[in-house]
Amino acid sequence: MACTSCASDKAGTLNDPRWRRALWIALVINGGMFAIEIVAGITGGSKALQADALDFFGDAANYAISLGVAGMAIAWRARAAMLKGATLALLGLYVLLAAGWGAFHGAVPHAEIMGVVGVAALIANVVVAVMLYRFRSGDANMRSVWICSRNDAIGNIAVVLAAGGVFGLNSAWPDLVVAALMAVLGLSGGFQIMRQARAELRAETAPTPTHHRQPLHGNG
Ligand SMILES: [Zn+2]
Repeated sequence: MACTSCASDKAGTLNDPRWRRALWIALVINGGMFAIEIVAGITGGSKALQADALDFFGDAANYAISLGVAGMAIAWRARAAMLKGATLALLGLYVLLAAGWGAFHGAVPHAEIMGVVGVAALIANVVVAVMLYRFRSGDANMRSVWICSRNDAIGNIAVVLAAGGVFGLNSAWPDLVVAALMAVLGLSGGFQIMRQARAELRAETAPTPTHHRQPLHGNG
């Protein structure tokens, strides 16, 4: 399930080397799972796997932004968030169109690939959630890490259920329905991120310096 916010970008917590190391591990796991789900989704003919990959992309981008641009000016973080939101929206649109195309021309996806990769994605998200959960007491941003990981697990379970449906019905429809739902969530999440980033950029470039610093993303 697409998250708008999976990583803290609070400057204070970033001074903790354990938190930074945890963010690095989360970045590697999410980036790796994004690649695995895209490749497995294309080779296995599963749109739901590709849709699930959207969330891994968004999360990896969040962790990268938290690690890479945290020390920079808020305007640059807003630009990074804008890029992330635009990429997420484009990927969501691509998966939505692919699911629509699959409804008319697609073959039945490989249910076993969907099931295996879906379970692997669930394990990856649980590992990251457990790792980051230790930091939950810090502030609201850290709690959002936990809430988001839980939502991700729901998305992974939806993929596994779709795999069961594809296997049981010998039909692409469970895959397409789950893919379309998740793609729409990714698309709307991408637009939400872009809206917030644009508001941040406006506030940052406004002549009055009295604006309050807001969290970069809403709670996904
Ligand atoms: Zn997520």
